[in-house]
Amino acid sequence: MDLAVGAAAREQARAKLAAAGVAGRYAVLCPYTTRPQKHWFDERWAELATRLAAAGVRPVLLGGPDDAPRAGAITGHAPDAVDLVGKLKLDETVAAIADAALLVGVDTGLAHMGTALDVPTIALFGSTRPYLDARTPRTVVLYEQLPCSPCRRHPTCGGTYDCMRLHTPEGVLAQAERLLAAASSPAPGATSARAASSAAPSSGASRDAASTEAGPLVAHAPAAPAADAPPSPVPAPGGDRR
Ligand code: SF4
Repeated sequence: MDLAVGAAAREQARAKLAAAGVAGRYAVLCPYTTRPQKHWFDERWAELATRLAAAGVRPVLLGGPDDAPRAGAITGHAPDAVDLVGKLKLDETVAAIADAALLVGVDTGLAHMGTALDVPTIALFGSTRPYLDARTPRTVVLYEQLPCSPCRRHPTCGGTYDCMRLHTPEGVLAQAERLLAAASSPAPGATSARAASSAAPSSGASRDAASTEAGPLVAHAPAAPAADAPPSPVPAPGGDRR
């Protein structure tokens, strides 16, 4: 797939980010999908956003136009978060992700773009199967394989979504700090990130579209190929942005 960032799109994205008050390092947050069982929780996004901002990384929410009405549920509790949900064109979205210091997302096309662009990416999965191979140490997948997981389109938990509830802001932040530190390190940094994660699996590291035993982070449960596992961690351009 071609995720090349055009100069015009990059210029537009940077202009919109600047107009929204974003200067310096920022983290793209991608909370939106088409299925509730793939969502994390608004209050956790808000806490993560607040803590990222306190660490000097401005949180920027991205999503499609249909997601825009939902952004206030996060930004209302995270005043430092910048709401650009539905405000960027697709090519501008790609450019904004490419320039980001970090991306945190659920199982959504935007999160997969982070992996494709080799932006430090944290993907939160639960009801869908992790990747078998993200092909980059800069992607971390957090995944707790419960007995009911992956349920895919047929949750049996009565809407509690425990698989996603196991992901805590603290856990995500710890991975964010590690990825950001590796990204700002000299060349050996990326290698260190992979080695560190292989040697010391985090609590619940994994992903909905990719993870391998030699991958950057190790899931609690072995990641056997799933029947519905996508052939690539990266969806086709123009696919589901949510
Ligand atoms: S049934 Fe299990 S895997 Fe599916 S959404 Fe609920 S807790 Fe997650």
